[in-house]
Amino acid sequence: MILIIFGPPGAGKGTQAILISENYNMIHISTGNILRSAVKEGTGLGELAKSYMDNGELVPDDVVIGIIKDEIKKSISGNGFLLDGFPRTIPQAEALDRMLNSEQLKVNDVLSIEVTDEEIIKRISGRRVCEKCGAMYHNSFDPSREKGMCDNCGENLYQRDDDKEDVVRTRLQVYREQTEPLKQYYENADLLSEVDGLGTIEEVSDRIEKVLKSMAK
Ligand code: AMP
Repeated sequence: MILIIFGPPGAGKGTQAILISENYNMIHISTGNILRSAVKEGTGLGELAKSYMDNGELVPDDVVIGIIKDEIKKSISGNGFLLDGFPRTIPQAEALDRMLNSEQLKVNDVLSIEVTDEEIIKRISGRRVCEKCGAMYHNSFDPSREKGMCDNCGENLYQRDDDKEDVVRTRLQVYREQTEPLKQYYENADLLSEVDGLGTIEEVSDRIEKVLKSMAK
């Protein structure tokens, strides 16, 4: 099974992607995580991506398409994969279709997590991430047991630069202008499933489960 999950920043796509990949034993491919690791390690890719990410802009299509090509090659023999944060533009979606076609594969479903801008600003300002393992928390909705420390590995939690409010507003605008048109693209291909992203992690996860179960029928 090949799934895509997308939604505005703060929609919870990262959290839901982890749950889906665990439940369905799928490989989780997150371009955001790959780019953040590259920034942390100071690689050439990281240096290139950093200024775009810090400003809330998209990393150029050719760079991200190159990353995803390598990841898909590595993941093809497994039990399927879940793309989290890719594609984010129409040219990325077209490149993905070409890559999959050449392997006689196709996308099975596209989950679009729907959340209003107001809710996003509220959610993102409290979001914290583990420096080491990338686990995500929220100061109000999903706090770590000990303030500022990761439950899994005990490392410090931090606020991503791109989670600061002015950057979030840019990311939202970028999302509405460049990524939202993908809904029509996948609607035309009869692959789009819109999921209400309001409510608890479990409530959203249950809605996603319903969509995935109905697909299997
Ligand atoms: P995310 O963790 O998915 O919210 O991604 C964080 C940031 O990484 C985005 O705001 C972009 O700057 C960059 N990024 C991640 N995925 C892509 C993509 N598919 N295309 C362009 N930039 C991306």
